[in-house]
Amino acid sequence: MLAKCDTCGKEFEVTGFEVEKVKGDIEKTFFSCTHCGEKYTGFYTNNWIRFNQQKLRDLQKKYNIAWAFRDVSQAQSLFNQIQDLTKRNGEEMQNLRLRFNDPVAHHVEGGEGP
Ligand SMILES: [Zn+2]
Repeated sequence: MLAKCDTCGKEFEVTGFEVEKVKGDIEKTFFSCTHCGEKYTGFYTNNWIRFNQQKLRDLQKKYNIAWAFRDVSQAQSLFNQIQDLTKRNGEEMQNLRLRFNDPVAHHVEGGEGP
């Protein structure tokens, strides 16, 4: 993936994501500009989100198995669970993003914040 840096204006190849602890169980997944080191946040996760991501992978496997065995009612039920969990996880990630993109909180250093 090619990205353009807003800070130095140069283009760079995003080769991988890094993870950094933010606060408590919250982690930030981000990539950095290879020219100036500016960090770009991909998304935030907490324990709840990471737990659900794992659960989604399990559900997806079960869904594939149910589908392979033509167990339509089971596949349908799993599909609904996957949809529901994906939606709730997305909402929680959005909440975290809004919380940490707050410009006031962003510049608080070292403290626990308000
Ligand atoms: Zn840059």
